[in-house]
Amino acid sequence: MGRSDYDLVIVGCGAAGLSAALSFATETRAAGQEARIAVLESAPEAARGGATRWTMATFRVGAKDRLDPTWVGKMEEVSKGLTDLDYCKVFEREVPTTIGVLRDIGVELIATQPQVALELTGGTMAPNGGGHAIIEALAARIASYPGVEIHYETEAMDLVQAEDGRVCGVRVRGRDGLQRTLNARAVVLACGGFEGDKAMLTQYVGPTACDLKHIAPGIAYNKGAGIRMAMKAGADTAGQFDMIHAELVDRRTSRADAVIYAHTYGIVVNGEAQRFYDEGQKTLDASFELIAYEVWRNQQQTAFFIGDQTIRDLPAVMGYFDTDLPPVEADTIGDLAEQLGLDPDALEATVETYNAAVGPGIFDPARYDGKAATGIVPPKSNWAYPLVAPPFFAFPLTAAITFTFGGLKTDVDAQVIGTNGHPMPGLYAAGEIVGLFYHDYPSATSVLKALTFGRRAGSHAARAGVTG
Ligand SMILES: Cc1cc2nc3c(=O)[nH]c(=O)nc-3n(C[C@H](O)[C@H](O)[C@H](O)COP(=O)(O)OP(=O)(O)OC[C@H]3O[C@@H](n4cnc5c(N)ncnc54)[C@H](O)[C@@H]3O)c2cc1C
Repeated sequence: MGRSDYDLVIVGCGAAGLSAALSFATETRAAGQEARIAVLESAPEAARGGATRWTMATFRVGAKDRLDPTWVGKMEEVSKGLTDLDYCKVFEREVPTTIGVLRDIGVELIATQPQVALELTGGTMAPNGGGHAIIEALAARIASYPGVEIHYETEAMDLVQAEDGRVCGVRVRGRDGLQRTLNARAVVLACGGFEGDKAMLTQYVGPTACDLKHIAPGIAYNKGAGIRMAMKAGADTAGQFDMIHAELVDRRTSRADAVIYAHTYGIVVNGEAQRFYDEGQKTLDASFELIAYEVWRNQQQTAFFIGDQTIRDLPAVMGYFDTDLPPVEADTIGDLAEQLGLDPDALEATVETYNAAVGPGIFDPARYDGKAATGIVPPKSNWAYPLVAPPFFAFPLTAAITFTFGGLKTDVDAQVIGTNGHPMPGLYAAGEIVGLFYHDYPSATSVLKALTFGRRAGSHAARAGVTG
């Protein structure tokens, strides 16, 4: 093969793309050469980093830097056996190495133990500074490799394939609207899902997907281009194309990631002031996606969290209302309804019916307390206490999209699998562009997954000897 412009072209400057660049550059230097890499980024430099830039990046990681040992089983269970279990197991095995790389590049990781009932009983950790700190640390380390370039405002349009099908470059479009070809010995697609593309959302997720608010500005650049170009080149897909990860956010603010997680500790009503979901069926981190999906799909994107003084006295619970705006407050349920634009009689009736259904037991936000409201539809299976202690408060809610489930199929080395069931020579994919989830997302794993399989893509490409 003749000398290409680059050894590796990476599409996307998020966690997966920068992780691929670092491992390829490191391993190539260890083998006595300097890598020539182009990282393509649609956004301007000031907005680089996609979803990764905006996340708090909570990791489902506890003692000894290990992934929550229940995660692989949960993936099998919620996907009803559809997920790629080999991929999940390799991910679990590789997590301590990924955490080690983060520490090595200077990312400080802070561990937390839950004070409210969480699925993540083993604790979590998160980088000080969130995903933005990861992007900055990776970019700084990559800058020490002279052959690595980041091309901003450069959008990948299509893959270039040799006559025999090997992927050997990317067709790109610059800010001036003009297109050119970057030849490469291999390509890594790390450009996210299709949450930023209303046409693809409508095509795969369904009618009214256009109503989904973006949880953060960075995801607008993820328009499914990588998925489209790989499918055109013969790639297979995986993950549930009509499912998304969504979260309930404060409807009043434009601040990114203004999540209202603590739905489990009050009641949630729709625009008719009716409850529609068993708020206490699962912990908040095991149900935040499902209730958000329900609000989007069946409640016309309108819901309200209602609580009272009982939980205002609990700082651990209040910490899960992560908005920049104060709640709406009132001394009576009727006044609260007026302020929210709800029918006061309807909200009073809903609260009275709910209060009357609350059974015995002690309210305990730190465990499944079994304190239930029964004999009503829907019931509330845990954390049901009567809403009787003013001031009452509320947050107006809507569902925001975080990422899409459908994506490309890869093997454990991040090689894209073709519709013939075999790896496509020269083509890798990592991060959110890879389809893995079905029905539900056992959370706090996406950034780690992007970092892990980005690293494996870069490493495999380097070992495959794509420098020359
Ligand atoms: C607000 C928020 C909170 C989250 N919370 C968590 C959490 O706590 N824990 C967790 O694990 N995960 C969380 N996630 C999910 C997680 O952040 C993402 O799944 C992960 O960061 C994806 O990384 P990535 O590298 O695959 O994609 P991204 O970080 O999105 O990077 C993709 C990059 O590709 C670029 N791009 C797209 N198309 C093109 C193109 N055609 N040409 C060139 N460049 C292109 C984009 O501009 C972007 O920079 C959260 C996400 C958001 C938005």
